Amino acid sequence: MSHIAELIAVGTELLLGSISNTDGQMLSQGLSALGINVYYHTVVGDNPQRLKAAIELAKTRSDIIITTGGLGPTCDDLTKNVLAECFGKKLIRDEESARRIEAYFKALGRSVTENNYQQAMLPEGCTILANDWGTAPGVAFEAGSIHVVMLPGPPRECRAMFEHRAVPYLKQLADGEILSRSLRLFGIGESAVEQLLREEMNAMTNPTLAPYANEGEVELRITAKADTQAEAQSLIAPVEQQLKDRLGPLVYGADVPSLESVVLEKLKAKGLTFGCAESCTGGLIAKRMTDLPGASAAFRGGVVSYATQVKHTVLGVPEDLLEQFGAVSDPVARAMAQGARKVLGCDLAVSATGVAGPDPDERGNPVGLIFVALSAPDGTWVRELQAGGIRERSRTVAANHAFDLVRRYLDGLPLKAT
Ligand code: ATP
Ligand code: MG
Repeated sequence: MSHIAELIAVGTELLLGSISNTDGQMLSQGLSALGINVYYHTVVGDNPQRLKAAIELAKTRSDIIITTGGLGPTCDDLTKNVLAECFGKKLIRDEESARRIEAYFKALGRSVTENNYQQAMLPEGCTILANDWGTAPGVAFEAGSIHVVMLPGPPRECRAMFEHRAVPYLKQLADGEILSRSLRLFGIGESAVEQLLREEMNAMTNPTLAPYANEGEVELRITAKADTQAEAQSLIAPVEQQLKDRLGPLVYGADVPSLESVVLEKLKAKGLTFGCAESCTGGLIAKRMTDLPGASAAFRGGVVSYATQVKHTVLGVPEDLLEQFGAVSDPVARAMAQGARKVLGCDLAVSATGVAGPDPDERGNPVGLIFVALSAPDGTWVRELQAGGIRERSRTVAANHAFDLVRRYLDGLPLKAT
């Protein structure tokens, strides 16, 4: 039988927008990995009547109800009481939980107040999900065909309690394993991927194939459902291979965090160093490199040469090039990358120069026109882009293309194709 799960996040801060429902995201990911379908997310404030109404509705449409938040000792923590009431269960003091709470406070060198014992009041006949990461224990119980799980709100506790307590409990209910693999693509848009793979996507049922647009790139997710992880893996493998053959150099990795992380790994594998000269990206390329742990093994540094004068004095871009072609041009992008390679003393350097806007530059170049270049010991390559008028987006696009040039160079792929 297939289960329908509903997540109910309890907390007025969520409704006010003070915090995001990250517990909900984490739980949805975790449940889908267990093969449990999540059909509804509900967010409700710390209000007993509205929480009750949300539970009553959930009872009519879901058979797994998971709540987050409102398990603590304060008076706005009402989840347990309301849930017990909705399912006709009495609250009984659990001595083991009371002792755990005492031990927790003792370890902190604090004394227990009476309301802390509230947390040891649990619905009769429930399974206690011991909380080793905080004070409020989680609770699970069954009522007829409905399974209820209550988890604490603080994200660190919620995650640990889900992984170590709720998952073993829910595994008995799960229908199988769901496994996903993400192919990361650069150089093609989401709709083009969809068009290219439409037939396959429509024909496939297990695994399924779905493209997602990320910032300036596309993720292609292959998802399989099977009795075991190994079986799911064996359903995914041939499809993954087929897609890699079909898409060729557009695929830059599978289950990898980002384009720059792939670049860093490849640089390290080849023992090459890397640097950058940035104008319109204003340091974004260097930032994205240095966000990666271990970047120092390959990344030498970057020059933010925003003013034309700095392109000349620091990077050595010839003045006549700047005068003749302007700062946003193929020859200047080329000279910036070459100059960066020299001043930074690195094997490979990229550059980015473009019209960030809001107005066209003094030569009438349109907003969003960008040149990125890669300089290597055996040559320099330039890509011309039109990234549109949104500043932030054009920066991201420029940085992506700079990393893509390096990735393609390191893989011996054609550099002309964009
Ligand atoms: P506590 O024992 O800390 O009171 P609790 O289970 O009663 O835990 P809440 O009081 O509802 O949980 O929330 C505690 C904190 O956890 C909130 O201030 C918020 O920072 C965080 N939190 C609660 N719910 C969520 C959620 N759905 N997503 C992300 N964070 C949340
Ligand atoms: Mg609380």
